[in-house]
Amino acid sequence: MILGIDLGGTKSAALLLHEDGTVAKRVAAPTPADADAKGLFAFLVALAQEIRGTETLEGVGVSVGGATDAAKGLVFAAPNLPGWGSAGFPLAARLSEALALPVKLENDADATALAEWRFGAGQGTQNMAFLTVGTGIGSGLVLNGTLHRGRRGAGGEIGHIAVVSGNEGRLCACGLRGCLEAYASGPSVTRIALEYGWRGAASGKAVVEAARAGDVACLAALEQAADHLGAALATLAMLLDLERIVLGTLAVHAADLLLPRIKESLQTHAWPRLTEGLEVVPAALGDRAQDLATLCAWGGH
Ligand SMILES: [Zn+2]
Repeated sequence: MILGIDLGGTKSAALLLHEDGTVAKRVAAPTPADADAKGLFAFLVALAQEIRGTETLEGVGVSVGGATDAAKGLVFAAPNLPGWGSAGFPLAARLSEALALPVKLENDADATALAEWRFGAGQGTQNMAFLTVGTGIGSGLVLNGTLHRGRRGAGGEIGHIAVVSGNEGRLCACGLRGCLEAYASGPSVTRIALEYGWRGAASGKAVVEAARAGDVACLAALEQAADHLGAALATLAMLLDLERIVLGTLAVHAADLLLPRIKESLQTHAWPRLTEGLEVVPAALGDRAQDLATLCAWGGH
């Protein structure tokens, strides 16, 4: 059994899981807003101690909703978790000391990519990309059957590759222009729908429902998002010669609206040789993804 910790910007959870992914016990709590590194660390230790009990545990896997250096066990300040500081907090080493257990951590997009690969829609592949299309757009790559981490584990920022070049591009929250995320994240689709004349609720869910009912502004915003997502996936396909691309969150909730158009755009922007047999599928784990991500942060590869 392992102890999993899912550290998110608004809520966190600690759980006990078996190697096959079944969850024996789970506690959740809101992540303290505005806490510094010391406060966040104390919160995580308390959460882990609460669930630990007397079980014999193999180790601890932490799925971090923010920037990490998994090889060094460091976590960095992120917009949703600013407390860690920019120099990097040695979370794996400090938790290991406090809990007297080995600890491994992974960025949540990477950990979820591993979870989909091992338990979900990526099963059976050797070369797979996972993209989560939600508040932000993150990704994880499994290449030749291994998680691709890159030099410092900072990659996977597919949300911030340019899909519109030059000053024409929309300004992204990251400061760059023309990022995929500025067109295709949940908040961006909502913003664009409002610009196009949508007068309903400013939420991704409302925009998707209105598009299904035929609202022209919401449909146009979603179609634009799908076109840019498809072009970004074409870049991945051309670079990496993938077997499967797994899309999470918005692409699951609005699969009927988005997937056909994403696939069409992908075909348009990549060579047939690289799109033939390439599957684009919605993520399969749903609510279980975050729990299984903690297991994969421990040792899913
Ligand atoms: Zn950006």
